[in-house]
Amino acid sequence: MRYNASVPTALNLTNEVIVKHIHAREEGFRSGFVAIIGRPNVGKSTLLNLMLKEKVAIVSDKPQTTRNEIRGILTEKEFQIVFLDTPGIHKAKDEINRFMVQKALATFNEVDLILFVVEPADQLGKGDQYIGNILQDLKTPVFLLINKIDLVSEDSVEHQIELYKERFQNWKIIPISALTGSGAQGLVKLIVENLPEGHPFFPDDQFTDQPLRALCAELIREKVFECLGEEVPYAVAVEVTAFREDAKEPSGLVVIEATVHVERSSQKGILIGKKGQMLKKIGTAARQDMEALLGTKVYLNLWVKVTKGWRNDPKSLRRFGYQ
Ligand code: GDP
Ligand code: MG
Repeated sequence: MRYNASVPTALNLTNEVIVKHIHAREEGFRSGFVAIIGRPNVGKSTLLNLMLKEKVAIVSDKPQTTRNEIRGILTEKEFQIVFLDTPGIHKAKDEINRFMVQKALATFNEVDLILFVVEPADQLGKGDQYIGNILQDLKTPVFLLINKIDLVSEDSVEHQIELYKERFQNWKIIPISALTGSGAQGLVKLIVENLPEGHPFFPDDQFTDQPLRALCAELIREKVFECLGEEVPYAVAVEVTAFREDAKEPSGLVVIEATVHVERSSQKGILIGKKGQMLKKIGTAARQDMEALLGTKVYLNLWVKVTKGWRNDPKSLRRFGYQ
């Protein structure tokens, strides 16, 4: 069996994934890995969803919701693009941030193309300069996407393009709106032109290789963010401990058990809420999304547990899918 030899090792693809794919393809088929990066909230997930035409990444107003790499896969007759929605890079303050930065850097070196997403501004922000400097030293080609152009005038977009052209001569600079789709029409084609010829990595029908468990965990995390705002979320990790189909139920029922880990008992109280109201609200919203995702009825059992200091404990981080 043949597979594309350039699977980036930083992605830790398992044998299972590699063996699953692979149909022989005609000459000229292109496939590769594309990392989407940029500061929190610039619209990376929105852009990913636009290109995939499916909701796979979480879109939220709050920064830093995409801690795990959520991959989306776009397969057409002539190409396959594997997108990596990487967490934001910024200077590391604690163990989990350091881990994310390391992971991001390892990934950048091994992908075929980087989409660096920024927002229009009068001058280059410090955060973008920091990322830009890192990217400039890589061999991997970079597209700089100036997103959210629907929010500013044409003049200021032009100004921004000039700023970046001066600073990063080798990059392709593309103004877009991930929200309206403006400017994004030719983007997929441009991306494909930068991928090597080779076999697909994944089966055609797979829009994401993220196991369903992990997607369900992300959905729960998303609901915690939505229901509690800034009160708790940074201290939250979600672990799906059981995921099974109930054979007794003829119409199909998936039983999912999940634990929300928090750092302090005060946070546990907030999450559970008065008479369990908050947890019920989170659970109901998550269950509805899971039912839509899985196309079956879902029975969701949600627990809250205090796991002290998990953000700085490598073992816990691994268990919760960060390593
Ligand atoms: P991420 O943190 O980089 O993944 O950013 P998200 O995709 O979650 O987007 C953050 C916020 O910006 C969301 O409220 C999006 O709806 C919004 N957004 C994303 N792209 C655009 C755009 O092109 N125009 C406008 N006006 N808003 C956008
Ligand atoms: Mg995101």
